[in-house]
Amino acid sequence: MPIATVNPASGETVRTYQAMGEEEIERRLQLAEATFRTYRTTTFEERARLLHRAADLLEADRDEIGRVITTEMGKPVTQARAEAAKCAKAMRWYADHAAELLADEEPAEADVKDSGGSRALVRYRPLGPVLAVMPWNFPLWQVVRFAAPALMAGNVGLLKHASNVPGTALYLEGLFHRAGFTEGCFQTLLIGSAAVDDILRDERVKAATLTGSEPAGRAVAATAGEMIKKTVLELGGSDPFIVMPSADIDRAAEVAVTARTQNAGQSCIAAKRFIVHADVFDAFTERFVAGMKALRVGDPMEEDTQVGPLSSERGVEDLVELVEDAVRGGATVLCGGERPDGPGWFYPPTVLAGIDREMRIHREETFGPVATLYRVADLDEAVLIANDTDFGLSSNVWTRDEAEVDRFVRDLEAGGVYVNGMTASHPAFPFGGVKRSGYGRELSGHGIREFCNITTVWHG
Ligand code: NDP
Repeated sequence: MPIATVNPASGETVRTYQAMGEEEIERRLQLAEATFRTYRTTTFEERARLLHRAADLLEADRDEIGRVITTEMGKPVTQARAEAAKCAKAMRWYADHAAELLADEEPAEADVKDSGGSRALVRYRPLGPVLAVMPWNFPLWQVVRFAAPALMAGNVGLLKHASNVPGTALYLEGLFHRAGFTEGCFQTLLIGSAAVDDILRDERVKAATLTGSEPAGRAVAATAGEMIKKTVLELGGSDPFIVMPSADIDRAAEVAVTARTQNAGQSCIAAKRFIVHADVFDAFTERFVAGMKALRVGDPMEEDTQVGPLSSERGVEDLVELVEDAVRGGATVLCGGERPDGPGWFYPPTVLAGIDREMRIHREETFGPVATLYRVADLDEAVLIANDTDFGLSSNVWTRDEAEVDRFVRDLEAGGVYVNGMTASHPAFPFGGVKRSGYGRELSGHGIREFCNITTVWHG
């Protein structure tokens, strides 16, 4: 895959980039290692000052970087600007909370005594250069949710961004430098995915985090496993959105539309499978389909566009194949389902009913604005279908019955259960999945501690 900016709204190549050669990669690895030796000794206050400055700069750049993102991966420019604002918030959150999240921990006195010691503590020390392999769908956010905690913990970052967002990748490197972080604290490696393996094997790289597809996650985790290096993986999702009879159906249908189509449906935590109790199935479906049909699809640079193009031709082809397979298997198209003529990688908001287990769409991730509907008789069947997937990222449940909430929280195989709302990440809450959605957690105290050397200090 060439490293290039190709506008998804038109299919035109805006700019191509030369991948970095071995010499430049070596220079950057040396710089990362050398920088870590001194950066690790800086205080939380110093790091926080720089990260606050980065947040201010990012906020000021919102319009400009918003247009870069929209040109590179096609999300509506209003959503691109909102992404920049969300990143600034996460930077400030980590700047303000890292010292407390990584404060020394003191074991109970009785345990220290029992160990035969006089004093003991647990200290969170940084690991070193961490490689981040990141995707294009939230090209700022995916990086910042790694970089903000990593930099606050005293690590340095090496970014291998997706090949279709080089402009955003270079912007991020420049942003951290402008904020005052020394050059080696955060570097972008303009490289293709084939160059990742050697870098991961390099002794100077201590750990890796990857957000993306299952094959990419498997490749990085396999090499990291061979090298005994820590990884965090955030892979795909096929989140259920369960609607029970006691739910506020109008609200559930309204949120369902956003949860499925935000970012043109290209989100790991988008609700993808809509599992609805038979008592409210018709009422929900009518409202949901009407909402999907009413969305404004079009030029992502327009302020009132709600759904832009997908990021690539391949992305559209994947969706077309999944929908065609489902229709061949007997699914009913309630809206959308036809790729429009004309330039750009557009696909309309689509709802399919009559899904069964044999269809590919039941098993695979739909990375676009295509929703599947399931009618269920009761909570047990809802849980059964919700868990009938290899993924386990997050889940959404709509009910006003507390006993039902307890059952869902007990039984859903996912890293999140969002009740009467849609899944959205927040810096204070852990984010990540189970099953093939990956392992480890990002954000919150759990995220910042993933790339720390958790050190026991014991005094005899
Ligand atoms: P990829 O997983 O291929 O890309 C994500 C990142 O991983 C990119 O930086 C990519 O680099 C890199 N990468 C790809 N293969 C390897 C490898 N073998 N070793 C090391 N790094 C690798 O995602 P795609 O863009 O191809 O999207 C395909 C599907 O993945 C989507 O349809 C969706 O299902 C899922 N996905 C999930 C995301 C999520 O948020 N969880 C985000 C994006 C995709 P390069 O761009 O150079 O190939």
